[in-house]
Amino acid sequence: LLQNKMDYLDSLNPEQRLAVEHTDGPVMIIAGAGSGKTRVLTYRIAHLIFAKGVDAFNILSLTFTNKAAAEMRHRIETVAGLEARNTWMGTFHSVFAKILRVEAPKIGYPSNFTIYDSDDSKSLIRTIVKEMRLDDKVYKANAVLSRISGAKNRLITWKVYQDDPFVKADDEAAMKPKMGEIYQRYQDRLFKAGAMDFDDLLFNTNILFRDHLDVLNKYQQRFRYVMVDEFQDTNLSQYLITKKLAAVHQNICVVGDDAQSIYAFRGADIQNILNFEKDYPDLFVVKLEQNYRSTKMIVDAANSIIEKNKAQLKKNVWTSNGDGDQIELVKASTDSEEGRIVASTIFEERNTKKLNNSDFAILYRTNSQSRAIEEALRKLNLTYKIVGGLSFYQRKEIKDLMAYMRFTVNPVDEEAFKRIVNYPKRGIGDTSVDKILVAAFDHDMQLWEVVQNAHSFIGGRAASQLDDFATMIKAFKIEVERKDAFEAASSIAKQSGLLRELYEDKTIEGLNRYENVQELLNAIKEYVDNEENEDKSLGAFLQEIALLTDNDRDKDTTDAITLMTIHSSKGLEFKQVFVVGMEEDLFPSQMMMQSREDLEEERRLFYVATTRAMDKLYFTYALTRYRYGRLLNCEPSRFLEEVSPDCIKVSKKVSSKEMPGAFRKEGVPGASESSSGYIGIKKKPETRMPTAMKLHTPSPDFKPSNTNNLQAEQLVEHPKFGFGKVQKIETEGINRKATIQFEHFGEKTLLLSFAKLRII
Ligand code: ATP
Ligand code: MG
Repeated sequence: LLQNKMDYLDSLNPEQRLAVEHTDGPVMIIAGAGSGKTRVLTYRIAHLIFAKGVDAFNILSLTFTNKAAAEMRHRIETVAGLEARNTWMGTFHSVFAKILRVEAPKIGYPSNFTIYDSDDSKSLIRTIVKEMRLDDKVYKANAVLSRISGAKNRLITWKVYQDDPFVKADDEAAMKPKMGEIYQRYQDRLFKAGAMDFDDLLFNTNILFRDHLDVLNKYQQRFRYVMVDEFQDTNLSQYLITKKLAAVHQNICVVGDDAQSIYAFRGADIQNILNFEKDYPDLFVVKLEQNYRSTKMIVDAANSIIEKNKAQLKKNVWTSNGDGDQIELVKASTDSEEGRIVASTIFEERNTKKLNNSDFAILYRTNSQSRAIEEALRKLNLTYKIVGGLSFYQRKEIKDLMAYMRFTVNPVDEEAFKRIVNYPKRGIGDTSVDKILVAAFDHDMQLWEVVQNAHSFIGGRAASQLDDFATMIKAFKIEVERKDAFEAASSIAKQSGLLRELYEDKTIEGLNRYENVQELLNAIKEYVDNEENEDKSLGAFLQEIALLTDNDRDKDTTDAITLMTIHSSKGLEFKQVFVVGMEEDLFPSQMMMQSREDLEEERRLFYVATTRAMDKLYFTYALTRYRYGRLLNCEPSRFLEEVSPDCIKVSKKVSSKEMPGAFRKEGVPGASESSSGYIGIKKKPETRMPTAMKLHTPSPDFKPSNTNNLQAEQLVEHPKFGFGKVQKIETEGINRKATIQFEHFGEKTLLLSFAKLRII
């Protein structure tokens, strides 16, 4: 290890070494792409453990992807030994989800809370929009979610959101005046479902630290050293968490590059870099300007691009690497020809230069561009993987089985419930499911409670079927408590009928789905067998999976060409990089040309793409392209003209439509699978949900009364529907029901054994 110590300090330049050795007090490293920022962070952790004797448990390191964290951990281990394993390392979301799993009850959540992915969130928003009888073309799930997400990342609660006149004016101008109420209902439903979306993980950590100083103090003491990579892309919510954690020891080190800030659209704030100096007056600032990644040609090209941005901190990035080749500019007549040229170039380069598939990356602005490229790669039998596309864990059959597991662990999880209650089919129709959801809403009850009392809310066969369903889930719960994740999951896959359902489908797709489910069980087995995972429960496994970002989901075992969006490529490097679709309206994106700020963010994205390449870089564009189902004429991107002419040359490459014999197709390689689409509950009938009325806020002294003697004509208060007058009381079987005329919500019939009413 001592040998290692010498090694690691020697393999740093003087500025990097300064940053590594300056361990105490606030430090900010602002540096260009490929200048060793991530390397410095890694070595700094090793240095803390190895040279300064800091306990690894006291170090927290926040990275951009779980993959980056794993890579860092691996590198540190080689320098500081296995001890490094004990460092807290991960994305903001994974680290704080872990903490919330312990502390969530303090803020009213169960510790086995579910984490909703964006599909779950959007599905919930669609349900709410429908319940409120709003136009789903105006209130599109995507747009609503990103608006809510933006608010949460700025720590704006639904209450503040609703009360803010500027936000209101904004929403009204956008013809979406109900946004504030959707936000409120969305939060309410998440809370009821014992679920947090990704933004909540950070939002709720802020709440936790704000309201529970003892908890904050515990973690302040634990994390004596805090480090953040890709600091330029932190949002306010993340920044405040970091700042609070470091408030006692002040040993905080952030690393970033303002030129690579590409998540403003998701609430990241470049101001965090500028404010950092104000927040820490005794800040030690290090600039790194030597690029170790790329050829001189690529570094010069990248500099010439970012120079066009007005808003930037001046840096002089240089390299002592060789000149390298000029960037090749490839013109294709169509998008499929573009794909063919890229594929045949990779094929040749790989063979002549003895490169691996994994030395190549194809980067694009939007995911949909991958299709034409994929087709061309398949024809040449080139193995590729799509990072961030539809990955294993997003496949329907996988989501279905996971939903069974989720609902077992947390049986108030509404989205999981909707997925599984009638899959495989058990005669519980959409109408019954809606009635159950409405009953939970009307009676302010937990979903699981309603499911267990199905007979009170729905009639006939569906109620008995729901009884069976509840009995099955209860049996699963017992398994989960007694067995490890693998045994429990295997049993759930069988007993739920899901495996049989897939097994009986003898089509190729069906077989594939069956194998995918087996593969999931393999993954769970692997998880259980892994010594590093102390908690082998199903709940722990689910949490781990929920936190995988798209980038982490693909297994890295095969040698494959990487296809991904430029956004996902941040922090990575490849020998050869193709940036495809360099066309106006595509890149820069049509959606990002409203203002100078937007355009500058697109340009930073172009800078990120360019700086991923080590040896060779290609820009390609097509003259025509299928978009939105039509063949469109395209113009080359304005960004192409911004690259210094010395660094770029027009390529002589043309595609060969006829593939030579050596390119014969031999089976279909590749990691991509097409989506079989969301099934779950396909078509939902019109529901009798409440209209778009603002929900009542219960009086401060609200307490449910005993309703045994409730009679017609009495006045009552309901926690959601507010004040109303009892019209009549009826008894039907074992159920006593009250029909109440509410002031704002009209007539409703509630079951008295469940309704929470205050008699006035
Ligand atoms: P990005 O801005 O893209 O995140 P970065 O600043 O984090 O880049 P790294 O990924 O840490 O840069 O480093 C880029 C490459 O340069 C890596 O391959 C790294 O190993 C190498 N490198 C960094 N510093 C040195 C050094 N002093 N000597 C040799 N190689 C180095
Ligand atoms: Mg980096």
